[in-house]
Amino acid sequence: MSRHPYESEAYEAGSIDGCYWATTCDTPPAPPLEGELRAGVAVIGAGFTGLSAALHLARTGADVAVLDRHGPGWGASGRNGGFACIGGSKLDRGAMNARHGTAARVEWVRAERAAIDLVAQLAGELDLEIDRHSDGEAMLAHSQREMAAIRASAAGTAAEYGTTAAVLEPGDLAARGLAAEGMHGGLHLRLGFGINPRKYVAGLARGALAAGVRIHGGSPVSRIRREAGGYLLETPSGRLRAEKILLATNGYASDDLPDWMRARFLPVQSSVLVSRVITPEERAAQGWTSDLMAYDSRHLLHYFRMLPEGRFLFGMRGGIRWTPATHAAIRRQMRADFDAMFPAWTGVETPYFWSGLANLTRRLTPYVGQIGGWPGAVAAFGYHGNGVAMASWSGLQAAKLLLGEAHELPGFVMAEPRRFELGRARRLALAGAYLWYGLLDRR
Ligand SMILES: Cc1cc2nc3c(=O)[nH]c(=O)nc-3n(C[C@H](O)[C@H](O)[C@H](O)COP(=O)(O)OP(=O)(O)OC[C@H]3O[C@@H](n4cnc5c(N)ncnc54)[C@H](O)[C@@H]3O)c2cc1C
Repeated sequence: MSRHPYESEAYEAGSIDGCYWATTCDTPPAPPLEGELRAGVAVIGAGFTGLSAALHLARTGADVAVLDRHGPGWGASGRNGGFACIGGSKLDRGAMNARHGTAARVEWVRAERAAIDLVAQLAGELDLEIDRHSDGEAMLAHSQREMAAIRASAAGTAAEYGTTAAVLEPGDLAARGLAAEGMHGGLHLRLGFGINPRKYVAGLARGALAAGVRIHGGSPVSRIRREAGGYLLETPSGRLRAEKILLATNGYASDDLPDWMRARFLPVQSSVLVSRVITPEERAAQGWTSDLMAYDSRHLLHYFRMLPEGRFLFGMRGGIRWTPATHAAIRRQMRADFDAMFPAWTGVETPYFWSGLANLTRRLTPYVGQIGGWPGAVAAFGYHGNGVAMASWSGLQAAKLLLGEAHELPGFVMAEPRRFELGRARRLALAGAYLWYGLLDRR
């Protein structure tokens, strides 16, 4: 029995039901691990982190086996919003400078940029059709106060990221086809793009298979044991011995795989609605005709974009329990928010709805580094809801760590993650945080 922070439904195969992406492409078949096998490196988790790592490892000649509880892309990687964007940490610029120094901040920004480039590079190398669109992303100000902050920081943000940014004054939004109710302007940062994440993760899996990686779905690892020369991983139908391991389970991790993980991570729910195809007339009526991906400046933010196929994707974080009743409530709340922000579309159906688990760390920065004192054992997790790019990059860096190659990880990303307070009940602290952020967002 795995010690997971959420109700068991969150970890069952059906928790991805209702996901629009699943209707757009298949992931490659991945038979369960059967019997006794060996590998040079065992990767647990077939999402962006695990598959990006596996691909790099295999390209250097390593013998790699990936095990997943369900299959490639079943976790957050196959069900996210598809924003390949900067992010991965929840520490703001000032706090990161204060805590880790400006040099570390520069390294981090470089990593954020490199992560986006890596997604584009992998898609190019593997010849993936991932429905890319959007020249950067827009942050829309939900208050005058946020708009003032955007005006004050736009030039600095653009310079820090080495790109251009356009301040969108309130009157610019409709002209740019970005009219959402209650927004006071925004910032268009030319960095990042939107993708179909399932096509991307399926492509990574196919690329890894072609490079010689073995991928086993239906293979939940129940125990990892150290033994002479490496590790023994147990699943219901097999055992895998490997010299090295990578734990790439992110929000789907459990507190006992291995015990070192206990309370070092905090999964958070994120949920998505996808509409039916919205006609050009309906888009014009709302004033949202842009293909730019966007989010609002709330702490409990909404993220949204018009997909190339003309459906609108609308996402939001929140929820501290995973039950059919709480999901019905989240869906109602999201639909109410969607109607409030896009009033011309109150008649537009949103037939697709699903949720998944992203992941936080106590220090609010990702972790890529050793598992306790275990030699040749690495974990990579905690992308704070921005892992399309950052998980891909962290997987690559984790592979480099395992190979002893030069890596680009800032020192603070490799510092052992602290444990959250409240142990297994730690998600309950989210209730207070969500309440507090909700109040802040009303200012
Ligand atoms: C709804 C939603 C929307 C999001 N939107 C965005 C976005 O727009 N942009 C962005 O950058 N990020 C977004 N994210 C975050 C992003 O999806 C994640 O950060 C990223 O996918 C993490 O990748 P991963 O490979 O580390 O983990 P995952 O993709 O979650 O994969 C972990 C895998 O580990 C497997 N696993 C767990 N335990 C075991 C075990 N014991 N044995 C075997 N296998 C196991 C699981 O089955 C799972 O497949 C979103 C997340 C969610 C949930």
